[in-house]
Amino acid sequence: MKNTLYTRTRLIAIISIILVFSFAFTSIISFNVTRETVNKGTKDEILPLVSNNIYSEIQQILLNPINNSSLMANDEFLINWVANGETDTDEVIRYLKRIRDEYHYFSAFFVSDRTRNYYYYDGILKTISPDNDHDVWYYNFINKDIPYKLDVDTDEATAGTITIFINHRLEDNDGKLLGVTGVGLKMESVGQMLSAYQEKYGHLIYMIDSDGVIQIHPEINLVKKQNIRDLPGIGSVSTEILANKTDTQIYEIKNRDHITLASSRYFPNLEWFLIVEEDPSDSLKPAQNHLIGNLIIGLVVTIVVIVLIALTINLFHSKIEALATTDELTGIKNRRKAEEVFLHEIAFTRRYGQPFSILMIDIDTFKSVNDQYGHLVGDRYLKLLTEALQDEIREVDTISRWGGEEFLALLHQTDAGQAEIVARRILDRVSSLECRAENEAFTRSVSIGIATAPEGKVTVDEMIALADRALYQAKAEGGNRAHFTPDANQG
Ligand code: GH3
Ligand code: MG
Ligand code: MG
Repeated sequence: MKNTLYTRTRLIAIISIILVFSFAFTSIISFNVTRETVNKGTKDEILPLVSNNIYSEIQQILLNPINNSSLMANDEFLINWVANGETDTDEVIRYLKRIRDEYHYFSAFFVSDRTRNYYYYDGILKTISPDNDHDVWYYNFINKDIPYKLDVDTDEATAGTITIFINHRLEDNDGKLLGVTGVGLKMESVGQMLSAYQEKYGHLIYMIDSDGVIQIHPEINLVKKQNIRDLPGIGSVSTEILANKTDTQIYEIKNRDHITLASSRYFPNLEWFLIVEEDPSDSLKPAQNHLIGNLIIGLVVTIVVIVLIALTINLFHSKIEALATTDELTGIKNRRKAEEVFLHEIAFTRRYGQPFSILMIDIDTFKSVNDQYGHLVGDRYLKLLTEALQDEIREVDTISRWGGEEFLALLHQTDAGQAEIVARRILDRVSSLECRAENEAFTRSVSIGIATAPEGKVTVDEMIALADRALYQAKAEGGNRAHFTPDANQG
């Protein structure tokens, strides 16, 4: 029993381990695949896509102002007006105002190289000077010898509102510099667009200038104050970002506990970078929850399966045990089980000095039943007799099929006198036990050998031998009687 319990426990443990491991294994594998896919998707698709879309949208916004500035720089009216000595100021003001109003620009301007006058849509703003910090842009630009340049100014109060001046060289037909003209526009839409993207995709999106200083950022207090070189995370790749002015670049940023991704895209005309940062673990939250759900389901399934297996094993175990200890024909205990009970009764008798008796019961001339009526009828008689014997003994007693047509009754705490009473009761009952066969009914008698455990030591074999001898004697005297072995009776 101990051994089977051990085997059962081990079997259940092994199945549990297999189930738990396979659930955990498949869940973790599938989570890892998801993580790889998410990381790869973020790296190869989402970040470049967001970056490129924003790039195109900003270029789209800048396209018309750049075109307009270029048209102004090639406008015969403006060239002639300068060439003719900038005489009628109203004329140029009307021209600039018209452009500003027509295209809804924040400003339209012309700075003359000869007079250093700053004309705008409302008059002459000022005369520029190389000594004025605000005017440095002009001298820087004309010295660069490029057709146009964007000059960006951000409105710190709103973080996303940039003012962009498109400065275009104005030259006469010989290529001599006449001044700088162009338009200024507020790009509120850029900030709005960036926050729309941010909301939609959950990335951190911001822009930095070519020195790394943040220019547009959802956190207003970083704007114009924070250089990305000094930021944790992105700071570790800032040198590469600022050095790489080709197309979209993707960077892996190793933080303390996980890796985040960032893309950078340089805007040559703004001389700014667009940075998109993404923490792939955010996108993995659902997958993580899924993993935990899977593991819980796995655990529950394992527990259910284990309970079912344990129940099934126990059921089969008791079935097998019943099969091994029960006589198939009569349903009572077989010889093996009877021997077990016998040993127990003897131990009990020895320990407490209680009386204990057995009856060895053998059917008289049973062979003739088979011969006369057939084996099946013989079987039927055996079953009938079993029921009768069960009736005649107490619940604490045990009746078993000892051999073919031999039964052994173990009478608990029963002395010789009581055993004899039981034996007589059985003889009586059997004599009236009718068994139907075809058209007639027959009866049989039994012979009973009684043995009572003598004082002191006794074994199963000794008691069986005593009962057998008594049975033999009963048979010898003609059957249908109970007999004691004389020396057993002494006890
Ligand atoms: P005795 O009075 O000397 O006991 O005569 P007997 O015929 O009962 O004894 P014997 O040992 O010669 O025969 C026993 C018979 O019991 C032989 C056998 O065919 C029959 N028998 C044993 N087991 C079964 C069984 O399970 N079913 C049937 N139908 N017959 C059985
Ligand atoms: Mg026999
Ligand atoms: Mg017999």
